[in-house]
Amino acid sequence: MIFSGKTVLVTGGSRGIGKSVALAYGAEGANVVVNYTSNPQKAEEVVAEIKAFGVEAMAISCDVSDDSAVERMIETIEKEFHTIDILVNNAGVTRDGLLIRMKDSDWDQVMDINLKGTYLCTKHVGKRMLKRKSGNIVNITSVVGLTGNAGQSNYSASKAGVIGFTKSVAKEFAVRQIRVNAVAPGFIATDMTEKLSQEVIETYKTAIPLGRMGDPEDVAKAVLFLSSDQSSYMTGQIITVDGGMTL
Ligand code: NAP
Repeated sequence: MIFSGKTVLVTGGSRGIGKSVALAYGAEGANVVVNYTSNPQKAEEVVAEIKAFGVEAMAISCDVSDDSAVERMIETIEKEFHTIDILVNNAGVTRDGLLIRMKDSDWDQVMDINLKGTYLCTKHVGKRMLKRKSGNIVNITSVVGLTGNAGQSNYSASKAGVIGFTKSVAKEFAVRQIRVNAVAPGFIATDMTEKLSQEVIETYKTAIPLGRMGDPEDVAKAVLFLSSDQSSYMTGQIITVDGGMTL
């Protein structure tokens, strides 16, 4: 119960990696806010699973790329839980395609949700953390933010942006002992990767030394580590969780 009494906001907590992260915090005694945009039923199912651990949980619909909606979400959470101790910027989307055929809307959507969403949530939650001189932030980036990937120039750029953002904000917030780190997952079995063809999945798998796709739980373990005292002297770091894919 290492997070007992803490309140955690997980953006995009209704499915995939965010869901695993939200459940892992609940299992460790935290109260958890599950943010989502489109599927209230899935979010409420996660909330029910978290409450079964004997902690508080709530679902909040909010598009993380909408500044005023993010501000309202944070105010609602504060009314219910007083503070946000840990922010996990996990919400993210892909709109894959080769650059020369990419629609501007696909570029904009990916940048808005993955990068601007991380910026907005960090800004609104971070200013409160700075005032309290306490808090912890973990961003979810991706190995393709480090390596690039054909067909994902928009997504890779957004995730590389999250890496630069993480390091910069870590430097800004360190003076108040607020640590900001990121996890860069490799190829993880979620809805995001389920839409890929079996052929593509098999090709990716051959590039993973550990020989399997990651589970969302593999990523959750690293997120909890970075927001716990176990990593108390780490800030501005990017931990890859990729089965050795980027070696
Ligand atoms: P996923 O299964 O597709 O889930 C995405 C989550 O984000 C859902 O809860 C979704 O909520 C939420 N979301 C989407 N747009 C949103 C918005 N505008 N505002 C708030 N929430 C929004 O994705 P995932 O695979 O778990 O990925 C989670 C994170 O890990 C993403 O940042 C992704 O880029 C990163 N990642 C994933 C992989 C992988 O292999 N899966 C690898 C590297 C990095 P709704 O259902 O309500 O829309």
